Amino acid sequence: MTTQHHLDDATLLRYASGDLDSAFTMVVAAHLAMCDKCRKAARDAEEIGGHMMDHVAQAPVSDDAFERMMARLDSGADEQIEVDLPKKSAPDSDVPLPLRALIGDHMDDVRWRLVAPGVRKYEIQQGKKGESSLYMLNISPGMAVPEHGHGGAEMTLILSGAYRDKLGVFGPGDVADLDEDIEHQPIVEPGEACICLVATEAPTRFKDLIVRLMQPFVRI
Ligand SMILES: [Zn+2]
Repeated sequence: MTTQHHLDDATLLRYASGDLDSAFTMVVAAHLAMCDKCRKAARDAEEIGGHMMDHVAQAPVSDDAFERMMARLDSGADEQIEVDLPKKSAPDSDVPLPLRALIGDHMDDVRWRLVAPGVRKYEIQQGKKGESSLYMLNISPGMAVPEHGHGGAEMTLILSGAYRDKLGVFGPGDVADLDEDIEHQPIVEPGEACICLVATEAPTRFKDLIVRLMQPFVRI
């Protein structure tokens, strides 16, 4: 199995500078655990991010991003991913390492909730309210992936099974790193349910939209 769909460069840079919130950070970390190519790119991005932070003091990132990035640089990217992991080893686990602390070692243990015929969901509880949401979907073969969240970025990592949309086939390890402008209607491939990890931006986050709406006026 080869990963075909990778993280966006901008996402890697934001991850490296600690500017992604916890839901997106988890999807990125889970993909990095499955993808050598992006893991290398993330390491490069951390170096570039370090240089950028040196020169751009007023960058629009969260207050403690610099400290978090420095902590990450000090510890090394791979060690960062391993920080919150359970001590026990799980050689037969089918869950990417960073995700095990949240959902356990086996996909079979996930307590799915039926949300529509053929569609089961597991909401992953996170620390802070009002941030992006993180959840898993388990969708039966041949089903369309339901509409889920609008007005913000969305990142989906395929854990097992596959779906197809106009961008191609997404299988295990592939990540759909989409901004709000992309409309797509994924259909799960026949034969096996598609299990994926999804981060969606909180719908109350209109900051980017407002900036875009203002842009034509600012240019005058
Ligand atoms: Zn990748």
